[in-house]
Amino acid sequence: MNSATTIWQAALGEFELQVSRPNFRTWFKDTTALAYDGETFLVGAPNAFVAEYLEKTQCSLIEKTLIGLIHRSVNVRFKVVWATDGETPRPGNDTAALYGFNPRYTFDNFVVGAGNRLAHAAALGVARHVAEATYNPLFLYAGPGLGKTHLLHAIGQEAVRRGQRPVYVSGEQFTREFVEAIRERRADDFRARYRAADLLMVDDIHAIGGKEQTQECFFNTFNELHNAGRQIIITSDRSPREMPLLEERLRSRFAWGLMADIQPPDYETRRAILLARAEDASTELTPDVLEMLAGEARHNIRELEGSLNRIIAYASLLRAEVTTELACQAIKDISPHTTPLTLGAPDLALKLVAQSFALTVDDILGRQRNKEIAQARQVAMYLLKQYGSQSLAEIGHLLGGRGASTVSHACEKISRDMEASPVFRRQVEDIRQKLDSK
Ligand code: ADP
Ligand code: MG
Repeated sequence: MNSATTIWQAALGEFELQVSRPNFRTWFKDTTALAYDGETFLVGAPNAFVAEYLEKTQCSLIEKTLIGLIHRSVNVRFKVVWATDGETPRPGNDTAALYGFNPRYTFDNFVVGAGNRLAHAAALGVARHVAEATYNPLFLYAGPGLGKTHLLHAIGQEAVRRGQRPVYVSGEQFTREFVEAIRERRADDFRARYRAADLLMVDDIHAIGGKEQTQECFFNTFNELHNAGRQIIITSDRSPREMPLLEERLRSRFAWGLMADIQPPDYETRRAILLARAEDASTELTPDVLEMLAGEARHNIRELEGSLNRIIAYASLLRAEVTTELACQAIKDISPHTTPLTLGAPDLALKLVAQSFALTVDDILGRQRNKEIAQARQVAMYLLKQYGSQSLAEIGHLLGGRGASTVSHACEKISRDMEASPVFRRQVEDIRQKLDSK
């Protein structure tokens, strides 16, 4: 054993005491000593990512530790020593695992289109300038399956690459941890963990709606970090205005920074996403199949991907080419065009509501919020719910990717409005009658 190795082993022992266990495991454990010439200490890292991280953030700890062991000044350098066990090293996966990011959710894999251009630009800007915290907080909102989590993980992974320490949590997990911390009287630990963040990322914040103590705690955490100039990024399935159970002061905090929504993808974006995903899976899609798929799933990219995955799995099971017939066969249980749920009554209901309000179906499915369109949309939700063949989530999905609770509020509101106004009641009942007679 040469002296470099001996010194490094002693140093590793020290690091193990000085950094947290996950940190040690992720960054230090697989390093080796390559050489020491009395001046420069060369450390071998298992991949470029670890080398970069150690160099950027741990250099002074490493130098201090080495000086303590060899009693003279030393320069530390890092070199990547690729794994030799035949496995291809995949830099970046460590970050993903350490912070809970999906390695696939990167900016590179995010297809930009009309509906998400602003959100994407904002996310990229924030990721590149975490330290400046220019847009603080960044509030991203969109219906399910439109890429909120993807963008959030992309920001996180980019920020880590730039030497920042994110804390990533879902609204649900934040609530759960908070409740546990209180029960076990560890509220200080809980707070300390969040206070140490260079950037705080909370996915699906709507989950804390209605939970007063959790909101209070989040409010304080938010303020502390915000005052300290730390970047905060929040996602939600709706805008703060549409979160009735959110405390007013949190709502106003969210409005301090930049809000960006993501609209359902247009045809071109759906097509581009499908092409990219097919390429990942080394599958060729014929123009027919591509057109069929892109033309179909409208409001949810997760479902779009789900259809594609099913087709790919089906084709590989049958060892067959992906033809239009095979694709139809594969997705016939999940495709909106072939299930009675979204054909038949819903389409008709939308058409009749649109007629009654002198609007178009596209108005109702769109994002405009003027009073008349909003009311027509709510009537559509109300009627679809009464039909009972779809869940609230499905109705919300059908009507432009809105959440189940939006649908539920809409239905309550329409009931109230019908109570209050006989004219309105008559209008809604007329639509229902027409619907029943078809
Ligand atoms: P949300 O958090 O809004 O419910 P996700 O971020 O989980 O949605 O996205 C659902 C799926 O769609 C993920 O697999 C994600 O990678 C994919 N996806 C969403 N938007 C895009 C996009 N613009 N380009 C490529 N894939 C996307
Ligand atoms: Mg999500």
